[in-house]
Amino acid sequence: LPLAEKSLIRRMRLRAGNTRGIVGIGDDCACIRIPDGQEALITTDFSLEDIHFRRELQPAASTGHRCLLRGLSDIAAMGGTPLAVFLSIALPDNLPQRWLDEFLGGLLKLASKFAVPLAGGDTSKSPGKILADIVVLGSVPKGGAVLRSGARPGNRIFVTGTLGRAAATLAALLRGDKNKIPAPDLNTYFYQSPRIEVGRILREKGLASSMIDISDGLSTDLSHLCEESKVGAELIADTIPHPETDLRFALHGGEDYELLFTAPAKAAVPRRIANVPITEIGRIIRGRKVSLRIAGKLQKLAPAGWEHFRG
Ligand code: ADP
Ligand code: MG
Repeated sequence: LPLAEKSLIRRMRLRAGNTRGIVGIGDDCACIRIPDGQEALITTDFSLEDIHFRRELQPAASTGHRCLLRGLSDIAAMGGTPLAVFLSIALPDNLPQRWLDEFLGGLLKLASKFAVPLAGGDTSKSPGKILADIVVLGSVPKGGAVLRSGARPGNRIFVTGTLGRAAATLAALLRGDKNKIPAPDLNTYFYQSPRIEVGRILREKGLASSMIDISDGLSTDLSHLCEESKVGAELIADTIPHPETDLRFALHGGEDYELLFTAPAKAAVPRRIANVPITEIGRIIRGRKVSLRIAGKLQKLAPAGWEHFRG
């Protein structure tokens, strides 16, 4: 059984550790100073058992890690720096305390990697499944956030890292083929890195005209970016980095947590940033069509990634 609420919170407070001068867990509100000349970024993400994760497929530490990864990846996509994390959890009363300890361990390990304190949250009993909601507070220089809406016709389109590995690994896990997944792949999937540094460098150097993180799948997230920018796009299938995975996983599989960004035609975009490979995969065009050039032919690229309530 999980500990009672008070002792649970006491334990989280102990484990959250040093909060670098901010008022964190233990008061009615956290009190956090936004650095001079900066503005706040705020993102919130649900992780629901059997919707976003499955207890039987994934270690609890990875569930905690991925829970925070989703929020940090959103901060990265704005070119921001994370300042503090808030975790609201609802737990069924038959949940082993060990699950929660490991979940927190995974979450706090990632938080400490980026020096972000756990500064508060809420704790409740759940009538059924586990629910975890993460809020990440970040900051960015005033007016400097990289938005989805800045892509212009003629801009080149880039992605960080490689795509499709997460969806391919999840598909294998769901098939019950865990033993067939190479251990490094499994580890990459369970403990992906948010691209905070890459996002920040792109913003600092003024390279990215627009940016989004790939959480729902390339086709879906590109369509979000194009919609906000009121432009179309043409991707070149051969250039999409998807080593050893099916192109469909790279196009439509979610959870890659890479960055998709556009840059003016003349921008000098390096091939690696913060040791992460950067690949050019297409171009922004006038109009609203999103298409894929494959085997010499241009075909419509419909958003076919993850979407709730699609039936
Ligand atoms: P309140 O009744 O004012 O909401 P709580 O008893 O819920 O206060 O919380 C007490 C303190 O513990 C607050 O600082 C809150 O942010 C923190 N806290 C509660 N649950 C969590 C959690 N799951 N993770 C981190 N901090 C938490
Ligand atoms: Mg409360």
